[in-house]
Order: sequence, then C-alpha cells, then structure tokens
Amino acid sequence: MGAVGVEDVLFAGIDVRVTAVHVAAEGVVVEASACGRTPSCPDCGCPGRRIHSRYTRRLAERPVAGRPLVISLQVRRFFCERRTCNRRTFAEQVPDLTEPQRRHSVGLRRWMRTIATFLGGRPGERLCRALQLPAGRTHLLGLLTAPAVPEQAPRVLGVDEFAFRKGWRYGTVLVDVEAAHVVDVLPDRDAVTFADWLREHPGTEIICRDRASAYSSAVRDAAPDAQEVADRWHLLANLSSAVEKTCHQHRLCLRKQAEAERDAQPRPIINPLPSPTLPPTKIAVRTRDRYADIHRLLAEGCSVSAIARLLHLDRKTVRRFRDTDLDQLLSSARHGRPKGVLEPFTAYLTDRLSDGVTSPTDLFHEIQLRGYQGSDLPVRRYVAGLRMGTVEPAAAPSPVLARSPSGSCCPAAHCGRTRKTSS
Ligand SMILES: [Zn+2]
Repeated sequence: MGAVGVEDVLFAGIDVRVTAVHVAAEGVVVEASACGRTPSCPDCGCPGRRIHSRYTRRLAERPVAGRPLVISLQVRRFFCERRTCNRRTFAEQVPDLTEPQRRHSVGLRRWMRTIATFLGGRPGERLCRALQLPAGRTHLLGLLTAPAVPEQAPRVLGVDEFAFRKGWRYGTVLVDVEAAHVVDVLPDRDAVTFADWLREHPGTEIICRDRASAYSSAVRDAAPDAQEVADRWHLLANLSSAVEKTCHQHRLCLRKQAEAERDAQPRPIINPLPSPTLPPTKIAVRTRDRYADIHRLLAEGCSVSAIARLLHLDRKTVRRFRDTDLDQLLSSARHGRPKGVLEPFTAYLTDRLSDGVTSPTDLFHEIQLRGYQGSDLPVRRYVAGLRMGTVEPAAAPSPVLARSPSGSCCPAAHCGRTRKTSS
C-alpha cells in the first residue's frame, strides 16, 4: 500500500494538488492548485485552450480535527476563443469543491444547508458557532431553497392563512393533505391570488379550508367542481366559540338556574362545625393515611430514620406524627393553611365563595378594601384550593372583616355560633 498524502485525506476524488499546509493556532491553511481537465466556457461550451491568468481564491472548508480549515486555491482563467460568444474569459471551477462566486466549499455548504433545514436560523447559527463554522442566520436561511411547485394541484388541497407578522401581514399556505407536505406559499390571503393559483394548477378534487369567505369565493370562481370541506381543527374551534358565545348570551338565566339548584340543595358546609362532620379533604385524607402508615411501621419496630426513608418524609415530620395525636394533626392540617398576610382574610373568602362569588379578581379587590396588603397570587391559590377541595374552608369571618357596613351578613347574626373559641 502506497503512502497516503494530504490530497487523499482532504480532497479524495477532487482534482487539486496540495502545495503547502500551514498549521497555526487559529486554524489550518492548505495551499492547493486546480489540476483537472481544462474547462469549457459556461456560455458557449467552447473548451478553454489559452490561459488568460491565474489567481488565488480562499475557500472556507469543513473544520479538520476541530480547527477551522481554509483552502487557498490557485485556479486558472481562460479565454473564450469563439468569436460569436459574448464572454471574453472564464474561470475554472473544481467539481465538488468550488462554485462560481462562492467563498464556501461545496461540502461546507452542504453541511450548512443540512443545519439550516433541521434547525432554522438562530438555533442553526448557535450550532455553527459551536462547531466553528462561518455562518450567520441570514446566510443559513438563504441556503434553504424552496421546493419546486408541481404543475398540477394535489388531489386533496389544504388551504389556510398564516402570519408573516401577526396582525400585520398574512400569507396563504397550500398543503398536499394526503402527502402531508407544503405545496406552495402565496404572498397574501386574497381570493384573487388563490383563484389565480387554482387556475394555474388545475386538478384538485377536494379543498380543505377554514370558514373564511375569501378562499370559498376563490374556489367557486376557479375550481367550481372541487368539493369544499371545512377542516376538523376549524370545525372544533368554531364549535367551541359558538358554545362559548351562546353561554355568554344566556349567562343571566344560567346563573338563575344555578342559584335555584343551589337553593334547592342543602347549603354546603362551609361554616365550622365539629370536625367529624367536615367533608374529607385531600389534606385530611393524607394526614390520616400518613398517621396510620407511621404508626404501623413504628409498631413493626422501624426506626424514625427508616420510616423517613421509606415514606420519603423528613425525620422531623415522622417524629411529629409519632408524638402528636391524630385529632391534633387533623386540626392543624385544617387550620394550618395560609399563614402571613392572607390568613386573617381566609374566613371572609370562604364565606364569599359560599355566596357564589367565585372570581379571584373580585375577591382580591374586596379584601383589598378591607385592608389586605398582599398580592393577588395567594388569593388565587387559596380560592382555587377551596374550589378543588385541597384546602379546608376557614372559620367564619371575624367581625372587623364583615362584608358590608349595611351588611346582608352582619357578623352579629352568627358570631355566637361561628366565632372560633380561642384556646
Ligand atoms: Zn464562450
């Protein structure tokens, strides 16, 4: 086996001769000269015989062993000797290495086009930077060439608008629904443009579209035989917005109905009653389960550390469950929620929620008027928790927070039975 040269490694199958290799910290420069067959004039095809001049091109190539690689390539310029040809001279190109006017090798361009295809502009630019490839996002996007538009429209054509810039400029995207790929992109969403396209590309049998009238009138004009189908996404979107609109129009009677139903049912237990009658909430259930688990394991002789590991709990929690009785744990689970600024208002929120005021924003404003200094987030969390049953309802409001001075709900009316007895 003969010695392998740099040509064989870097330029396998390419007609160049390497004359020097310079290795520096910032990269590798390979000096080479083209040595292929004499080229022909790109205009008339006349083979070049007389050399006009030689010059050196610099080509960025794919990095070698992590270092940027530049090829300093000497090429020849030839005279075109055909008198009828308008071209006087032409430069030679090296197949699989150079292209006219390009400063990147064919291989490097192929890499960058692949990156642009998979990643697009900005992510592609970041990857190129990491790989030391000389490419910005505009350059990458410029490498993406649009696929050829077929002469005939697909049998099932999907049409929808898309935003070049939301709220400003829209285009139309045409899709081959059966093959699931984009067929063409139109510069606007006008009926005329789409109708012209349909005339230039006949043959579609079914057109899936949204319910916009522009596309419909284009289909009527340019492809009257095609069957129009509302696509599933738009059907569902339209249905849900119709339902929403209808509900909104009937919100008064819906509210009345809901109130009538609620009045017919016993009022939910919101105000504090003796603990055994409280509905089991997630917290209470969890506390009971945890208590049972810990005491079972303790009875089996497990240590606190072993139980903590087994149940994924803190050792402190395990000790608390060991040393506290269940009623006390349940009671602290019930009353141990929102600490801090929201705590004095939880009873008020609970009460208002039972009156049917469910909007966290309204409730937030109401307690703000009563002196709440915090943000709306704890209010939202607490109200959501009450509605989902993940927090226990609080005791009745304290007199200072009673709802209104004129008061449909005077605190005096039920303070006797609802005020928490302090221990
Ligand atoms: Zn020529």
